[in-house]
Amino acid sequence: MMSGMFRGSWTIFRLGRIPVRLHWSLLLILPYLAFVIGDQFAAAARMAGLPARATVLGPCVWGVALAVSLFLCVLLHELSHVAVGVHAGAEVQSVTLMMLGGVTQMTRMPARPVWDGLMALAGPAASGVLGLAGVALWRFVPAALPDVKFGAFYLGEINLALAAFNLLPAFPMDGGRILRAILQPVLGRVRATEGAALVGKILAVLLAIGGLYVGNILLLLIAVFVFAGAGVEARQAQIEDLTRRFTVGQVMDRHPPIVESVATTAEVAARIRTSGDGAFFVVAADGRLLGGVLATQLFAVPDETGTPVTTVMQAPLPTATPDEPLETALRDLAGARFPRLPVVDGDGRLLGALGPEVLENLRRGRDLERRRAALFGRRREA
Ligand SMILES: [Zn+2]
Repeated sequence: MMSGMFRGSWTIFRLGRIPVRLHWSLLLILPYLAFVIGDQFAAAARMAGLPARATVLGPCVWGVALAVSLFLCVLLHELSHVAVGVHAGAEVQSVTLMMLGGVTQMTRMPARPVWDGLMALAGPAASGVLGLAGVALWRFVPAALPDVKFGAFYLGEINLALAAFNLLPAFPMDGGRILRAILQPVLGRVRATEGAALVGKILAVLLAIGGLYVGNILLLLIAVFVFAGAGVEARQAQIEDLTRRFTVGQVMDRHPPIVESVATTAEVAARIRTSGDGAFFVVAADGRLLGGVLATQLFAVPDETGTPVTTVMQAPLPTATPDEPLETALRDLAGARFPRLPVVDGDGRLLGALGPEVLENLRRGRDLERRRAALFGRRREA
């Protein structure tokens, strides 16, 4: 699996610059797997064609050893994505290992869909090779080495399952990305992503029904992950598309809350109470932006009527220009300490501001546009 935003993970080590993170779902599934393997050891050994009690190592040792090996296999799967991605010019931000594979977060995707598809294919290909190698080892290792036979069989099967599952043509699985790479030349990036995400959601519902039917909690958990992941992918593609189509000037708020530099902290605090705004830009008499002040900062100042707001404001703030693409401005906003990004002209005069709500507004506008187009039978899409 690749991309998407997943909270609840910890950095375990770094590969060069890239942090490799561990997601709680893997922490959950590893002990579960260790337990299941230990618990059903005799059956697993039988499946591997070995008589019960043939292995030197006991069920508990095997449970832990296989769970840890699985983690390493997932790591190899993910690093294959990274290797092909970096080769294709992608910028990898982090790798998160979780159940069903993992997530490679990218700040820049490969430019061409074909490389996007190949990057997605790399993970299942690695799992497939590991799987086939395991099965081959199981076949050709003599019966005198039952532990090697057993480990090779089990890891081979798990890797083959991992490859097959990730090749399902649905987001957020790797197959979804491959499907999108195929559909993109025909449908465009956004609709191709939405198509693959829709398949993902349908698949998740089927998995959930199946999980309920057989009473398998793990299947239900997987269904929830697939459903949520599919939604994240679709939304991300929509946002990516919107940020490329608009400039800052087209979508900025033209009347952000401002205070003049001569105001005192007490005056600004009074305005905060009446307006409910939490962040103000401080501007000079000629309209030049001087800084910004937050409600939380003001309430930390003793209520002395004479304190000028300029002594407590944050300055200088990062700024955007109106003709800048929304994509870069939003990246600056995400990295800034102030919640709104001021938009200024060449002379530093405040023209407007960008807040985090801009994307949600754009998305709503786009949905409205679509519904209207559907009603009147017209499509207006880039
Ligand atoms: Zn993958």
